[in-house]
Amino acid sequence: MPIEQSARRGRFITLEGIDGAGKSTHLGFIRDWLAGRDIDAAFSREPGGTPLSEKIRELLLAPETVVSLDAEALLAFAARQQHIAEVIEPALAAGRWLVSDRFTDSTYAFQGGGRGIPFERIRVLEDWVQRGLQPDLTLLFDLPLEVAAQRMSGTRQLDRFEQEAAGFHQRVRDAYLARAAAEPGRFAVLDSSRGIAEIQADIALHLQRLLERG
Ligand code: ADP
Repeated sequence: MPIEQSARRGRFITLEGIDGAGKSTHLGFIRDWLAGRDIDAAFSREPGGTPLSEKIRELLLAPETVVSLDAEALLAFAARQQHIAEVIEPALAAGRWLVSDRFTDSTYAFQGGGRGIPFERIRVLEDWVQRGLQPDLTLLFDLPLEVAAQRMSGTRQLDRFEQEAAGFHQRVRDAYLARAAAEPGRFAVLDSSRGIAEIQADIALHLQRLLERG
């Protein structure tokens, strides 16, 4: 590996939002933007990203899974620890950028906001599992629930979280927005009710800023 590449740690970008907010839609754009600037980047997702973590993902998303609140959060963090150890840390240490479709903000939003696990309890697991690792940039795709639901209707079979009632998704959205307000330096909140081109112009701005950051 060239010296210039190993000398600097890569950047860690996470994508967040309620289901149907457009994360998958914009992944290709982000991939092309980074490739266009010769940035060596890896793409991953949570829960998932490693063989073990993908098995945990299947369990977490399957509509027939019966799981307690705390076990759900612990499984999410078990999958995350493996993802960090096997994929995220090695990539960043090698100077690669790592883009993850969901990360810990999802646990705060879904298990915290959605299910009601106190944020302080999630923070204990975050500290244990991440040892200070935080994303450099979190793109939060935000839009009203009704718009997201409309966009998703009929496009795919809904998983265990997508099947939750509207109140759940509203609490998830609110928790995301509260986290973004508390950490404005890390979060970029993107109004995703707009057209795709407008959103992607915003994404490009934030990526450019991250690239230029010393
Ligand atoms: P997520 O990955 O966040 O769950 P998706 O990217 O799968 O969301 O988007 C959900 C649906 O909404 C898809 O059918 C997608 O084509 C559509 N969609 C995404 N962004 C927009 C947009 N800005 N305008 C209109 N439709 C959109």
